Amino acid sequence: MILYNSLGQKKQEFVPFFEGKVNMYTCGPTVYHYAHIGNLRTYIMEDVLEKYLRFAGYDVNRVMNITDVGHLSSDADTGEDKMLAGAKREHKSVMEIAKFYTDAFFSDCEKLNIKRPDVVEPATNCIDDFIEMITVLLDKGYAYLAGGNVYFDTSKLDSYYVFGNMNEDDLAVGVRESVEEDENKRNKTDFVLWFTKSKFDSQELKWESPWGLGYPGWHIECSCISKKHNGEYLDIHCGGIDNAFPHHTNEIAQSEAYLGHKWCNYWFHVLHLLDARGKMSKSKGDFLTVSLLESKGYDPLVYRMFCLQSHYRKPLTFSFESLDNTAIAYDKLIKRISSIENEGEVDDQKAQELIDSFKAALDNDLNTSLGLTVVYDVLKADANGATKLFVIGELDKVLSLDLIQEKAGDGADSELAAEVEKLIAERAAARAAKDWATADAIRDRLKEMNVVLKDTKDGVTWSIG
Ligand code: AMP
Ligand code: ZN
Repeated sequence: MILYNSLGQKKQEFVPFFEGKVNMYTCGPTVYHYAHIGNLRTYIMEDVLEKYLRFAGYDVNRVMNITDVGHLSSDADTGEDKMLAGAKREHKSVMEIAKFYTDAFFSDCEKLNIKRPDVVEPATNCIDDFIEMITVLLDKGYAYLAGGNVYFDTSKLDSYYVFGNMNEDDLAVGVRESVEEDENKRNKTDFVLWFTKSKFDSQELKWESPWGLGYPGWHIECSCISKKHNGEYLDIHCGGIDNAFPHHTNEIAQSEAYLGHKWCNYWFHVLHLLDARGKMSKSKGDFLTVSLLESKGYDPLVYRMFCLQSHYRKPLTFSFESLDNTAIAYDKLIKRISSIENEGEVDDQKAQELIDSFKAALDNDLNTSLGLTVVYDVLKADANGATKLFVIGELDKVLSLDLIQEKAGDGADSELAAEVEKLIAERAAARAAKDWATADAIRDRLKEMNVVLKDTKDGVTWSIG
């Protein structure tokens, strides 16, 4: 598989550290508000990457953190803690806010067929791990104490701006909002590993540490949680492009200083979802959520398809007009697939050809829009129904658009069958217990349902009369 790697800024052949195994890490949500559909674009594309790696035969271990502490309203270590701001807004405790929005996030993911990562770890579970990593960074001389906080010393690194081609604006994002420079910092790009003193010391959650009662900086959690569950070697780290600087840059600084060797080989960044005002963001307030799409009558999977229709490395502009076009396309596609008769035997060779063309699309830097067109190629292919349905089912393991749906009648039929089987079993139990009244009542009920029973040597069979 060829993947674009932000580290090196070019497409590269994907080769994991250990043959057949992929360690993958995803920056999880900051759970102070609902995820907006921009955040979810990133999680959809990461989900496709994970599922495609599995489809290609890799054994994937995917880890995700939940940021429930330490992410300040500016990425430059200043401002109020986002979680605390959420708690104040809703007059709840930080932990109540974290629980509510973590559940809301996974409920949105479920609606979008985004698989839950193998490991999901809230930052507040790992305070001891953060303290251990910070202690080692201090011991190795990569960190220093100033004004009660512990800082990472970026001047100790051979190179800090590892995602080198980012333009000045991108690089400035993290420091731009620091109207007042933190005078404890030795270098402009240094960042906080542990706070005991902050201008905003109303922080609700604090922990004992060797440096005093305090709380972790934002970046340390991803370095530690990844190491805890993926070990010292990470194959792919994912996130939205805004995370590349300073968050991912700082993660690399900490992890490699701590480990003493290269940490992560491939960095997968998803470009932003834009709306009429630019990048969709939680801080702008009135952002779009999955619930809002549902309240307007959209199936969340239409949004998934909307995302798959464009490449993850291109910004995607959202409008209801384009979503409407996708809704029409999705509806037509589902109807065409459900009209396929499941006849004949699967033609393995034909099936493999079609699957190979899907693989060729996704092997080329996860080209999902081309992958989707293969579904249409399958519909047009010179193949029997069984082969088409088999291939579509395989592709849907990655696309996850629920392409094969129960035909309207099938659902009703299977419900009826389940009800009949249940009544037959109850009648047999009543007869065994010599409860003739109940057995007769069940027989009458089955008659009303037009069910004809037949005793055979293998037991009772039934049909609709
Ligand atoms: P957050 O909950 O703010 O920590 O963000 C969760 C994920 O969504 C991160 O990977 C972000 O980089 C990503 N993200 C934030 N805004 C957008 C956007 N407008 N489009 C795509 N991804 C985004
Ligand atoms: Zn992260």
